[in-house]
Amino acid sequence: MKYGALEAGGTKMIVAIGDENGNILERASFPTLSPKETMPQMIDFFKGKEIASLGIACFGPIDLNKESKTYGYITSTPKLEWRNYDIVGEFQKALGVPVGFDTDVNGSLLGEITWGCARNKTDAIYLTIGTGIGGGVMTNGRLLHGMLHPEMGHIKLALEKDDTYKGKCPYHGTCFEGLAAGPAIEERWGKKAVELADREEVWELESAYIAQALCSYILTLSPQIIILGGGVMHQMQLFPLIRKKVLEQLGGYINTKEIENIDEYIVPASLNDDQGIMGAVKLAIDAL
Ligand code: ADP
Ligand code: ZN
Repeated sequence: MKYGALEAGGTKMIVAIGDENGNILERASFPTLSPKETMPQMIDFFKGKEIASLGIACFGPIDLNKESKTYGYITSTPKLEWRNYDIVGEFQKALGVPVGFDTDVNGSLLGEITWGCARNKTDAIYLTIGTGIGGGVMTNGRLLHGMLHPEMGHIKLALEKDDTYKGKCPYHGTCFEGLAAGPAIEERWGKKAVELADREEVWELESAYIAQALCSYILTLSPQIIILGGGVMHQMQLFPLIRKKVLEQLGGYINTKEIENIDEYIVPASLNDDQGIMGAVKLAIDAL
């Protein structure tokens, strides 16, 4: 059986055909312009490929409440042309197949749970640190949606000592995303994150904020594993710093085998940056 998959991002749309084992048989990518320009390109890609269903892992905020009149819509995104856009409905109309729908980060988590480093876990977090910060959560074996879906990048953090940066989030200033996403790093230090690789102080501060957030997630959601992805996390030197600071901040209060093996508890994404598109394949499989 063949499945259609879409990883819908604010900059690009990745489309693919996958099989039941998560193999990606064919893929393409289109820049995210307006729906009028980009939807026909994606629909053309899927047409005639005999997909049984489609899975969409989508940038948000999105409406995941099946009781809602706007289920399947992208809702209040700053990308104005996609605001209040019925992305699920439009694909259903064009392709006539069942459509599975979730957040981009829940998609990545589902990819890792199904085929990656979080196999056999029932409680896990996937956090992306890139242009923005977002988190997907599985709890008791189910992806967490709740009232809307988690927005884990927008929690308030305590400012680190002597930090006077005003923050980059238009809603909250110095929330986690406002302090630690790629654009905040760039504004704070005056250079793109990738060009700051050898500046120790950058990653000391970055890891301190990431550790603060992870401690909150650990203490509230009790995950069995935390996966960190997104462009900024390509700076692999962050991992040992984050692990050390998480242990310090937890202060010895949590004593589980997971925390004891922290190198296997806080880990990079494991699917060569295909976790999102593979998760979208799983969303398609589950939609059938
Ligand atoms: P998006 O979040 O738009 O899907 P990414 O996850 O690639 O895309 O995130 C882009 C952000 O990550 C940018 O702010 C960029 O500066 C930063 N970034 C990308 N690659 C790296 C890298 N190798 N090291 C550090 N930062 C990076
Ligand atoms: Zn915010």
